[in-house]
Formats: sequence, structure tokens, C-alpha cells
Amino acid sequence: KVHVDKVNKSYGDNHVLRDISLDVMDNEVVVMIGPSGSGKSTFLRMLNQLEKPDSGLIEVDGYDISDPKTNINKVRENIGMVFQNFNLFNNYSVIDNITLAPVQLGKMTKAEAEKKAKELLETVGLPDKASAPVSSLSGGQKQRIAIARALAMDPDIMLFDEPTSALDPEVVGDVLDVMKHLAKMGMTMIIVTHEMGFAKQVADRVVFFESGKIQESGTPEQIFTAPKNERLQTFLSKVM
Ligand code: ATP
Ligand code: MG
Repeated sequence: KVHVDKVNKSYGDNHVLRDISLDVMDNEVVVMIGPSGSGKSTFLRMLNQLEKPDSGLIEVDGYDISDPKTNINKVRENIGMVFQNFNLFNNYSVIDNITLAPVQLGKMTKAEAEKKAKELLETVGLPDKASAPVSSLSGGQKQRIAIARALAMDPDIMLFDEPTSALDPEVVGDVLDVMKHLAKMGMTMIIVTHEMGFAKQVADRVVFFESGKIQESGTPEQIFTAPKNERLQTFLSKVM
């Protein structure tokens, strides 16, 4: 589903991603961990071409995304992305936020999009918020709406970049519960998070980024109970 082979990326002389290779299968949940500045966000952004690699291959759903013949907008429609800071339209209602993209891109009629939005509001546990202004929601509610909005496009893959880092501790669980539910439903997900408990519970595979390299990857058991890489051991001793 996602095939990344020897990708490199530099900003000036800052070599941020070094020969990164990673394959993600259908229905797989991959959690990326690693220190600040190690390249996790850059890697995620590269998967939908918000950043371009300097070299290497990235295939999503079988399409080489740097091939000029690939319709990148079509590829992007199949990739939902959720950020730390929600990126919702604050002046719009919840339902308008969720229906905007599928209607504008001609994927659904307004009525179809609204029906789907109501189902998604059930999924994220906020069925009574359809007409609420986004500005009236808590951070945890906003993030669940951001997830619903990403799901409205029926993506094949969901990318999450620290979706709970900006939230008050008491609402983090609500957002993680929605993500756990998506994992159970078989959604393919790549998740950057510092929530190690969540990673242990939900990840099929954990990937440790450090200095722009994948230093180690494995099952949660391997990574958390028998880490081999010294930098991973140091990282875990700080965050656990
Ligand atoms: P964090 O855990 O803090 O989010 P990260 O692992 O997501 O860190 P990135 O945001 O991918 O790290 O950044 C990797 C490196 O690339 C950092 O040194 C950062 O300063 C640099 N960087 C990221 N984006 C840009 C940019 N647009 N222009 C220049 N440098 C950048
Ligand atoms: Mg980041």
C-alpha cells in the first residue's frame, strides 16, 4: 500500500531523511516514534507530497507519486491527514467542515455528504455536534472532528502527526479511542505519537526514527521490551 525506498531529503545542508525505506501493508498500523527533529513529520508530509524527496521512490496505492504522470490530487484524496493543531475552519459549523471537501471535489452531493457526516459523527462519539460552531468545541472534540473530516473522503490510508500532543490530558483518551476503533475496522494508519501505551496496544509495528534514519523497527514487544539499538534504549529510558 505504501512503498518507500531509499528516500533522502535535505533542507540546505541539514540532511533530514537518510535512505529511509519502509513498506506499509493494507490494514497495518505503523507507529513512528523518535526524538524531536528526527524527521518524523517530514517523512509523513512526503507521503502526500507536501514535501518532495531529493531522491528515492515513494509509491502509494501503486502510484509513483513523484512521477509527473501521476495525478497527485487523486492520490491525496485517498490519504487522510490529521495534524496536531486540527486545521479546522473555525468560523464554520462542524458539519460544514466535514462536508466541504467531498462536495467541493465532486465526490458526493451535499445530501450524501451530510448523511455520511452524521454517520462519522457517531463514529467519533459526537452525534449531537453537527450544527455546533467549531469555535465552541474543546480541543479533544476538535480533534475528533478533524478525524471525521479526514474520513469523509473515504481514504485508504490515514496519517496522524502527533494528534494528541496539543490536548489536555483528560481528553487524550477520547481521541486515542477513536483511533483504536479505526484500527479495529482495518484502517491502514501511520501514526507519529509520544503515547507509548497506545503504541504498545495498537501498533502492528513500531518504527524508531533518529537523526533522519530508521534505527530500529519491530513489533511493540520487540521495541519496548527488547530494544537493541542503543539510541532507542536511551530514548525509551527518557519517555517511559
Ligand atoms: P518533532 O518531534 O519535534 O515534531 P520531527 O521528528 O517531526 O520533530 P521534523 O519536523 O521532520 O522532525 O524536522 C526534521 C528536521 O528538519 C529538523 O531539523 C527541522 O528543523 C528541519 N525542517 C523541517 N521542516 C523544515 C522546513 N520546512 N525548512 C527547513 N527545515 C525544516
Ligand atoms: Mg513532528
